[in-house]
Amino acid sequence: MQARIAEKHLSGVISMNPASWYYLTGFTGEAGALLLSARGSFLVTDGRFTAQAKEETSGLRVVKQDGSLMATVGSLLRSRSQNRIGFDASQLTVAQFRAVRKAAGPRVRWVRADGEVENGRQRKDPAEMAQMRKAALLAGDILTAAVKLLKLGVREIEVAAEIEYQMRRQGASGPAFETIVAFGARSAHPHARPTERRLRKNELVVLDLGVILGHYCSDITRTVFMGRAPARIRRWYRAVQEAQAAAVAAARAGTSSGDVDAAARKVLAGYRLDHYFVHSTGHGLGLEVHEDPRVARGQKHLLVAGNVITIEPGVYVPGVGGIRIEDDVAVHAERTEVLTRIPRDLIEI
Ligand code: ZN
Ligand code: ZN
Repeated sequence: MQARIAEKHLSGVISMNPASWYYLTGFTGEAGALLLSARGSFLVTDGRFTAQAKEETSGLRVVKQDGSLMATVGSLLRSRSQNRIGFDASQLTVAQFRAVRKAAGPRVRWVRADGEVENGRQRKDPAEMAQMRKAALLAGDILTAAVKLLKLGVREIEVAAEIEYQMRRQGASGPAFETIVAFGARSAHPHARPTERRLRKNELVVLDLGVILGHYCSDITRTVFMGRAPARIRRWYRAVQEAQAAAVAAARAGTSSGDVDAAARKVLAGYRLDHYFVHSTGHGLGLEVHEDPRVARGQKHLLVAGNVITIEPGVYVPGVGGIRIEDDVAVHAERTEVLTRIPRDLIEI
């Protein structure tokens, strides 16, 4: 990180992203601002987190916020006469930016450095990869157990509650995102929230869940049919399964993430189902459930060893239902590793 700061001729860079604070300093608090600088980094946080910050970090100054957070950061910058500070425009509100700029005074120049701090997180080291493997395996176990809860008359929220209870029982600090349990036509909404809706016969069920285990996220989706699936559903399922396999096979070091997306889309187009695929093929995964690299149409990012991404094509037919298959995939120099290991075939109950 320090090398990147020097390369951009910055005296420091501000991070407002808690996942990056943890990555760079070990701080697990939820509020504050981190300034990384070759001339000494500091972390400003409020009274709830100052003692914790001192325990969790070393080699940086922990400052208790005095008044507003951004005014404190600004006055520290003013007193240190640092002149070129990088910031990420997606991490600061307009009000925060104005406050820090005012407090820092006219001698500080503000330079856009969007994604600079987060870029380093895209390449997982072996210890991070080992943790992500564990998180992925746990998500698979929980999904397998959740399928057994699918009985006629059960409600979406009941299944979601049991899934999230089991996550914590089995050591996760929580779900990586709000668990999706969607029955019947509701499964045609890719991000359906669990409701009181009860499960009926001959319906599709989409289960999409992930855990945070040792700070790292997993994310997996499987689709179930309650009963014997009719030919039309089987065809859609086969299309999604082939699209998913094609994208996993394409996810290799040196390939652009846009080409991974295109591999899935091409298969669905062959089935004339591409217009039912309404989101991108995947996303980066790590300390946050959605991070770079994005796996979407036209993305030029070249995959490198250490990237972990999801591959999750789907088809969503309004009024009928949706099918999605999602796995977590690690890119290595010579091979691609699927971290989520449970079967991908259509589950019929
Ligand atoms: Zn998911
Ligand atoms: Zn996902």
